[in-house]
Amino acid sequence: MRNTKNHWLQITSTFTLTIVVTCLGLKPCVAADLQMQGFEYVQANNFPKALESFNAALKEHPDSWMIMQSVANCQMEVGHCDKAIAILQKSIEVGGLHASQCNSMAAVFQRLGDAKKALNWLNLACKLDPAMRGNVQVLAAISKLQDPENNPTGSPAAPDYLSGLTMAKGWPKAAMPIKVHARQNIQLPGFYPVFQAAITDAFEQWCSATGNAFSYKFVNSADAADLVCDYTDRRELVSSRHELGIDGIAEMLLKQDQSPGKGTLCFLVKDGPGAPTFRSRELVTRCCLHEVGHALGMHGHSPNMRDIMFPGALRDGQDKLSERDKNTMKRIYR
Ligand SMILES: [Zn+2]
Repeated sequence: MRNTKNHWLQITSTFTLTIVVTCLGLKPCVAADLQMQGFEYVQANNFPKALESFNAALKEHPDSWMIMQSVANCQMEVGHCDKAIAILQKSIEVGGLHASQCNSMAAVFQRLGDAKKALNWLNLACKLDPAMRGNVQVLAAISKLQDPENNPTGSPAAPDYLSGLTMAKGWPKAAMPIKVHARQNIQLPGFYPVFQAAITDAFEQWCSATGNAFSYKFVNSADAADLVCDYTDRRELVSSRHELGIDGIAEMLLKQDQSPGKGTLCFLVKDGPGAPTFRSRELVTRCCLHEVGHALGMHGHSPNMRDIMFPGALRDGQDKLSERDKNTMKRIYR
């Protein structure tokens, strides 16, 4: 048996603290207060509010590359990776290239599932600040970005991506129906019905993709289940070496013949305990689809960002399997 549980540290987007200390005029004080407020919201994981504060601070200091970087970090956290890249580019134009900006760029490209670009930016950061080479978090991030599971190969236009996966083996016929337990988080009871609906949707979509060769049933206890599904508002619980921009984790035991054994799935449904709202039903469903895909025996990812098994985050819309996702799983259960 192999336990695929791994620990890694995420590239933490760097929030550069730039508090204007010269308090001679009213403007710097206002900007400093706004930034302080911004950092407090960041601490509380309330990124929409942090973004408002940093944007207001930027109005007071429109040429501050550091405030621009803080705005970019917040844009990434609220899911606007394109805006984050644009403002980071501006920050580099205005303030020159700094290691912290490169770190932020790396974090955005990691979130987007682009391991190659993330790695380039991280290497650039290390060139600008050689001390970073000795940083445990940076080393872990580099090894994660080099992981073959995060660098899918193959043609994005092929009818399926089976050949690009690092490994694929489905549950054996004798194990069906697979017993699934959707566990209630007693700290987040209100979200349970939405979570149940999202996880059911995910299993149903994959089942139909296999022409019901894969089947499952819900059970009432974790002890009786093959797969236990949890949801959380704590990002550290969904950190995985194998995921770039997907806020979920599938920890599976593999049997000797490499077929899936018991496992636990966990999904981030809120961006931290201080976040003002839960994530959208579509986003949670997308994340469920992705991790359930792994739990059904897919190891590795698709190189096409329109596929659910692409390793990066797409914030909006897509909560349905692509034809390529369906074709790939169909081949695994054929
Ligand atoms: Zn994945």
